[in-house]
Amino acid sequence: MSEVRVRFAPSPTGYLHIGGVRTALYSWLWARRNQGTFIMRIEDTDRQRSTDESIQVVLESMRWLGLDWDEGPEVGGDHGPYVQSERLDIYAAYAEKLIESGHAYRCYATKEEIAAAREAHQKSGTKDGFRFQSPWRDRPEPPADPNARHVIRFRAPHEGVTSWVDEVKGKIEILNSTLQDSILLRPDGMPLYNFGCVVDDLTMEVTLVARGDDHMINTAPQIQLYEALGAAVPKFAHMPMVLAPNGEKLSKRHAAVGVLEYRDMGYLPDAVINYLARLGWSHGDQEIFTRQELIEKFSWDRVGTTAGRYDAKKFLHVQAEHLRMLSDEDIARGTVPFLARNDIDVAVDDPVLLKTIPYVKPRAETFIEVAEAVDYFFRNVEFDAKGKRKFLAPAYANNLRRLADVLEAVEPFAKEPLEHAVKAWLEENELSMKLVAQPARVALTGRTKSPGLFEVMEVLGKEKTLTRLRTGAEIAAAAPMHSD
Ligand code: GLU
Repeated sequence: MSEVRVRFAPSPTGYLHIGGVRTALYSWLWARRNQGTFIMRIEDTDRQRSTDESIQVVLESMRWLGLDWDEGPEVGGDHGPYVQSERLDIYAAYAEKLIESGHAYRCYATKEEIAAAREAHQKSGTKDGFRFQSPWRDRPEPPADPNARHVIRFRAPHEGVTSWVDEVKGKIEILNSTLQDSILLRPDGMPLYNFGCVVDDLTMEVTLVARGDDHMINTAPQIQLYEALGAAVPKFAHMPMVLAPNGEKLSKRHAAVGVLEYRDMGYLPDAVINYLARLGWSHGDQEIFTRQELIEKFSWDRVGTTAGRYDAKKFLHVQAEHLRMLSDEDIARGTVPFLARNDIDVAVDDPVLLKTIPYVKPRAETFIEVAEAVDYFFRNVEFDAKGKRKFLAPAYANNLRRLADVLEAVEPFAKEPLEHAVKAWLEENELSMKLVAQPARVALTGRTKSPGLFEVMEVLGKEKTLTRLRTGAEIAAAAPMHSD
């Protein structure tokens, strides 16, 4: 293992947003590229949202994506626990350390006092944002009851500048006069985000912190905390947000944002990873990358500084390309659960399924589409209403019946002999293929579009082909006459 230690620190909310996945992905790629360590840490200080269930969704999403973690929940590690609510004693110890060294203080200000200060600030008409200046910062004596309800605040330096060289954004400088004495620990011992994050990144020996640039306002206060603790400051990489096509922050209103929704839509983890990697990072003009290529090629200096916009069409294109990269066996394996969703139980090595894959592969984009394209091989035909009306009509009944009779004599029941026999019959009877092909297709598949007719027949086999054609003929004969 190299020096690289990176982490993904989600706050579970019930689903894993694809923007968060991209952050995790870049860190993961960086860890894998450098034979480093990828850490997963659950930031669950918002106790209401962080249910066990929402934590499980995060872990399940990461597992589905194949973004495995070397340290964290379920796998353990030397720097645990990896869930913030289990680390309260560690935060308390660090807060004490800061109090002892004079970098933090107990603040007994009440809610009312803070509200009054805020009101006075608003009335003063100043344009500067409100920063609470606690009277306890410079008060040497504790109150009569030192155990009275209080928070622990950071004694932030107000002079000078805090700066860092961001791996993505370059040099950033923040005036310390704009920062406030932020709360480190609440009365109940829960850390606020900046403090929990610094203590964790420090004790987990994280070397590079990668996250969305919505966190850039937190970086200077975090650096001040590292400095107050006399600790080395990690590197930072802040990446632009993923935006909706209209430039707004990407949310449920614009697209499927929960990563497991893509699993349910029949996407491949590698396609999701490829698309998200390219949404904010580039390597020349290349669009399609395997997982291994991403690991080999990823670097922070090619992460763009402008936000990527989500493009559903491009995403689907990347998905389709990845689907086509799979072997027929892997497509069959991926399709089986989607067939099962429609109560079609087929084994992953079912010979009929394996035979159909090459025919549907060129056109299908997701596993759902593969499942839809092959389902009539495994269940009774469900007719497309328009196709049925048009092609299972009285005018075609006789042709369908005769076609079945012609096919009955063909041996072996395979594409070429079938095609040969049908063509000979059409010629003899001066019939055009047009009068037979679409009615037969609808009778066999229920649809007006399918792989080649003779291929479908071969895969269906003699018995099903004849039965479906004859049933189609009966339906056609019984159908009302119409003019189209
Ligand atoms: N829990 C924070 C979030 O989900 C983590 C931010 C960070 O990576 O420092 O936004």
